[in-house]
Amino acid sequence: MNIHEYQAKALLAEYKIPVPAGFASMNADECLENAKKLGGNIWVVKAQIHAGGRGKAGGVKVATSLEEVEQYANSIHGMNLVSKQTGPEGRIVKRLLVEEGVDIGRELYAGMLIDRSRQQVALLASTEGGTEIEQVAAVAPEKILTTYADIVTGFDQQELAAVADKLGLSGQTKLQAIELFNTLLKLFIEKDASLVEINPLVVTNSGDIMALDAKLNFDDNALYRHPEISELNDPDEQDPDEIEAAEHDLSYIPLDGNIACMVNGAGLAMATMDIIKLYGSEPANFLDVGGGASVEKVTNAFRLMMKNPHIKAILVNIFGGIMRCDIIAEGLIAAIRDTHLGVPLVVRLEGTNAEQGKQLLAESGLSIIAANDMADAAKKAVIAAGGQA
Ligand code: GDP
Ligand code: MN
Repeated sequence: MNIHEYQAKALLAEYKIPVPAGFASMNADECLENAKKLGGNIWVVKAQIHAGGRGKAGGVKVATSLEEVEQYANSIHGMNLVSKQTGPEGRIVKRLLVEEGVDIGRELYAGMLIDRSRQQVALLASTEGGTEIEQVAAVAPEKILTTYADIVTGFDQQELAAVADKLGLSGQTKLQAIELFNTLLKLFIEKDASLVEINPLVVTNSGDIMALDAKLNFDDNALYRHPEISELNDPDEQDPDEIEAAEHDLSYIPLDGNIACMVNGAGLAMATMDIIKLYGSEPANFLDVGGGASVEKVTNAFRLMMKNPHIKAILVNIFGGIMRCDIIAEGLIAAIRDTHLGVPLVVRLEGTNAEQGKQLLAESGLSIIAANDMADAAKKAVIAAGGQA
């Protein structure tokens, strides 16, 4: 799960990691009021969306008067922000963050993520902050310093000191950086984060370390023990199809191909996607309707899957164990009756009540391509979608 920058900064502040003073605002008027509350004479107005690259896309503006704050807040709020990370369709900005301006000396980069092969947390740090770290990794990988922390004992403090040295930090600034890395790790572990990115991590002109931007990702599987994090979810930033899938308790992930797949069981779903690829086409989605789906659930799953405009064929691959094939057949018939297919449908039913299921489909009068096994089903779907199996 992803959260907004202002929420991430509030969390950092809870851990006493220095961040600029600021307020989240839901509209431009509120943003201006918050700027007045902050006082001072430099403010930064920032678009709050779950994607980076906002600065280059016009979503981060430094204002030197309240008039400018108002002007920037009005232009950023409601804009469709298109950055490298949003994709070409962009994101509508619905929330703003207004902060006190910071006197930036240097912009560094700090990131933290899980290195699964080492079973450790990796700290990535670089002198090349502010810019895209992917770019740095591509052209000058030697400029990214990597250090690992043990989950139980944390960082080796000498290694951290060496990182701070390589970042060109000394004196109090160096001590502050080391403390920040240690605290960030504590937050990372305590909150079950999966990614932290502070870019830029700045050294102010008075030599203090401060997080000027913050991106935090959390492990969805651990959210049950962090209601305070779940609460930060912003449905505006979620894919509407993902929300619908979650409401119906379906595992649905849209993909780039053109063969829609409806399968029961995650393993069978993966195998179905593989076999589609084996026969030369690409799946349009991953969809697991689960073990004990009802007619209603199958209908919802079908409707969700059919929203994808790129679909050329549908492959339903069901192995009836707990799930009975006749229930699937009933669900399919109901779904087809109210969705008007428009593309060929290949169905493979096997297992509990497979015969009843096949009979229901045959008697429905709907045009369905029946398949005998997985390979047969995949081949037929690929051909139906216009490919060559
Ligand atoms: P991103 O582009 O989405 O990663 O947004 P950031 O929060 O990283 O902001 C982009 C850039 O805006 C930063 O790298 C800074 O150079 C600049 N910026 C952000 N806040 C301030 C500030 O308080 N003062 C100044 N002078 N620049 C800032
Ligand atoms: Mn940034």
